[in-house]
Amino acid sequence: MKELEDRIASEGVVRDGGVLKVGSFLNHQCDISLFDRMGAAWAEHFSGKRVDKILTIEASGIGIACMAARHFGNVPVVFAKKSPSLNLDGAQYHVVIHSFTKDADFNVIVSKDFIQEGEHVLIIDDFLANGAATEGLIEICDQAGAIVEGIGIAIEKGFQPGGACLRDRGYDLCSLAIIKSMDAQTGEVVFA
Ligand code: 5GP
Repeated sequence: MKELEDRIASEGVVRDGGVLKVGSFLNHQCDISLFDRMGAAWAEHFSGKRVDKILTIEASGIGIACMAARHFGNVPVVFAKKSPSLNLDGAQYHVVIHSFTKDADFNVIVSKDFIQEGEHVLIIDDFLANGAATEGLIEICDQAGAIVEGIGIAIEKGFQPGGACLRDRGYDLCSLAIIKSMDAQTGEVVFA
């Protein structure tokens, strides 16, 4: 998506350790007109697929997933919660996700009330790096017996293995911008 690439090129800040900061339009301040056009791009890519629900993870996935849902017939958006405590009564799906940016493990939960067996789910997230967050959301769908129809990502860092791994496993992955390389010294970002 050319518009997203242009925003990354003009406003993104490349940090050491392969981290891209895009707080001015995606991760802190939200450009909802851009989010709306991102939703339209995913809807075009996934047209013809049955999507009953969108699943994302807090916090930055929520805004883009909600705008995307407008383009999928206003389907419900469920966000996985990062939770310090676990409810052990079996009412939740639970996975452990390793955070790339925080280098720590998080318990992530979704209430069993909100993802049902046989539902067709579109997974949406802001970034795809090593793939841990997306793999965790897939695992939640697997626990529920739901079908992952596709995965919509805003920014894939193509120099990390998450995207290749998901494509190898046959998932329909639509990343709106794929970064081939980026340089913290010069600030240059190269797209695939
Ligand atoms: P993964 O689990 O694929 O390794 O990383 C994806 C998750 O980590 C996303 O949910 C996102 O919040 C965060 N993340 C990974 N890389 C970056 C990055 O370069 N910049 C920002 N802002 N978040 C990132």
